[in-house]
Amino acid sequence: MTTQLYVHPSYLDHRTGPHHPERPERLEAIQQVLAHDMFDALIRIEAPRADDSLLTLMHPKGQVDRVLTSEPDQGLVHLDPDTVMSPGSGDAALHATGAVCAAVDAVVDGAADNAFCAVRPPGHHAEASQAMGFCLFNSVAIAAEHARQAHGIARAAVIDFDVHHGNGTQALFWDREGLFYGSTHQYPHYPGTGAADDTGAYNNIVNAPLAAHTGSEAFRAAMETRILPALDAFRPEIILISAGFDAHQQDPLANLNLIEEDFAWATDQLVAMADLHAGGRLVSSLEGGYDLDALATSVATHVIRLMAAT
Ligand SMILES: [Zn+2]
Repeated sequence: MTTQLYVHPSYLDHRTGPHHPERPERLEAIQQVLAHDMFDALIRIEAPRADDSLLTLMHPKGQVDRVLTSEPDQGLVHLDPDTVMSPGSGDAALHATGAVCAAVDAVVDGAADNAFCAVRPPGHHAEASQAMGFCLFNSVAIAAEHARQAHGIARAAVIDFDVHHGNGTQALFWDREGLFYGSTHQYPHYPGTGAADDTGAYNNIVNAPLAAHTGSEAFRAAMETRILPALDAFRPEIILISAGFDAHQQDPLANLNLIEEDFAWATDQLVAMADLHAGGRLVSSLEGGYDLDALATSVATHVIRLMAAT
């Protein structure tokens, strides 16, 4: 059994302009590190393109069309001050969502033990009717709902260790009983959501806000005392990870001080929880991470732990 890696050339065609942190070079750095022969056992899959039936699991059709028709024929279009589309951005976003949904299909069908989706644009800030925070469509949220709709999974969980709170995922999951969202994030920080007393309609939201300039100890304590016990009680039949690596101490967009070993530790904890409740079914998808060197080494560490789990 195997770990799959989902990739697509369209991800490099999504351009955000000079000085934008969410840039194609992020994926080039990841592809370079994952080309090392220690990753030869990864099964590399070209991501399919998501169709409307997937996107509309979480976004109104009007919003899907609004985003896709915003794509410029040349140059850049800003959907908000941070969120940019170039020619090719819509196709990249559709293949990003397609990757995470296909990875869910693979781990549920038994074609893979687990999977990492090296995608961009990211997704966890995208709300039902609002693209924001570099995100166009909420790929992980869509894939979690896809697991329920297409595969009869009763309970799907998303754990988000990106340094930013996934406001989009929280809002989309809030009143859906079979979906769980747990997040560690710097707080207060962009996007401003993620308070500890947010619970969701079914106690299905668990936030663990972390103060700026804290690091490994606070992160691991938050996982151990808040996120993992609630995840255990939820008994997920599949776990998805919103795998952002911008909580790394070198990241320029935030001020947490995690190191590669923290991402390895968190991965191991989530693999153990997937083994306990979900037959090992785990799908991880890239969100943030903006220091190219730290991103590459962190992703490598994360993927090594996923491969070790198989
Ligand atoms: Zn982030």
